[in-house]
Amino acid sequence: MSSSPHGSHGSGSRASIDILEELQLIAAQNLEKLDISKYYEVIRELGKGTYGKVDLVIHKIRGTKMALKFLRKKTTKLKSFLREYSISLYLSPCPFIINMFGIAFETDDYYVFAQEYALAGDLFDIIPPQVGLPETVAKRCVHQVAIALDYLHCKKLVHRDIKPENILIFDKECRKVKLSDFGMTRRAGSPVKRVSGTIPYTAPELCDASQHEGFCVDYSTDVWAFGVLLFCMLTGNFPWEKALPSDAFYQEFVRWQRRRTGTVPSQWRRFTDEGLRMFRRLLSIEQERRCSVKEVFSYFNHPWMLDNESGSSSVAGGGSVGSGPQVELSSSSSEEDVLVDRLKQQSLIEPMGGHYSSTGSPSSTSSYERVSRDNGGAGRILVATPIEICV
Ligand code: ATP
Ligand code: MG
Repeated sequence: MSSSPHGSHGSGSRASIDILEELQLIAAQNLEKLDISKYYEVIRELGKGTYGKVDLVIHKIRGTKMALKFLRKKTTKLKSFLREYSISLYLSPCPFIINMFGIAFETDDYYVFAQEYALAGDLFDIIPPQVGLPETVAKRCVHQVAIALDYLHCKKLVHRDIKPENILIFDKECRKVKLSDFGMTRRAGSPVKRVSGTIPYTAPELCDASQHEGFCVDYSTDVWAFGVLLFCMLTGNFPWEKALPSDAFYQEFVRWQRRRTGTVPSQWRRFTDEGLRMFRRLLSIEQERRCSVKEVFSYFNHPWMLDNESGSSSVAGGGSVGSGPQVELSSSSSEEDVLVDRLKQQSLIEPMGGHYSSTGSPSSTSSYERVSRDNGGAGRILVATPIEICV
């Protein structure tokens, strides 16, 4: 897992890495100062953080709606801006990664680039707290995110910030979702400093501040975050606050993972054996033993949740969620086209259950909120009770 998730890429990957560098160079050469109001009409704010903001705008000449990401110059180096912009541009041909318009410029206070507008916002907003999404919806979303993540890994890049807030959606049934926010993305194997602030998606090897000064970027940290994301989508809870021994919920999970106990931790009992097997592979404590993101496709044929009222794990008709992922995936365009067609088919034939009502998941007394690394997780509500283990 650590070296390459897909074997040798030969000279092809070296060529693609060069393209990334060239993209940054060209973007730097062409970066113009622009008067926003001359070209764009601001409609509303879509997101805000310490980095800056994301605004929904209309391009006054083209008449196109776009999302402009503003990165404050005070806190963002030009190099970081160019990296995020170039990586986003480089990855945007993937149908499950947010599209770019090839527009980057600066104002007095901000570096700015334009993205396609995701009209339903981000995944966080549609996960009902303590309930989770219906299995059909979750699977449909997971399927697309997994293809995006595999695409990124095939390009020898690691996202490093997989969470619902960075998955943009175009409809509430997740028929079209796209991975976004490549601000943390780095090449696999590159040395990085520890990121301050641990969030529930952070892999255990990165949580322990005493162990690491710096480390190498690895695909397995995305796989861990992807596993936590799946849990959140299916349950509407975090499995733990931090993947550290001091966290009782995490500790209980580790004991089960390492087969020190046969008792499945309480909040994991809602999953089928096959679902648990999948989580065991995605959330292996040792990063070398974690599976590649592709492996999740082999679990789509099986139900993941035990109490599946909507019967959402099986789908009528030929283009079921389960049958799609059996295709051997690669980043070649023809196979991607087949997948896109399959997903389109799915969207047309899948029945829509009573979404976002009760899915019969066990009750839980604690929930979760948006998390940010910038404030070390402060601001979110994490109300863990001794009985209900989810945070
Ligand atoms: P954070 O540090 O909180 O992750 P960020 O710097 O990573 O913020 P983004 O994740 O790119 O910024 O954007 C912040 C939020 O703005 C997203 O979570 C989403 O809600 C919204 N947003 C960003 N891009 C778009 C878009 N293209 N369409 C619709 N909403 C968007
Ligand atoms: Mg983000």
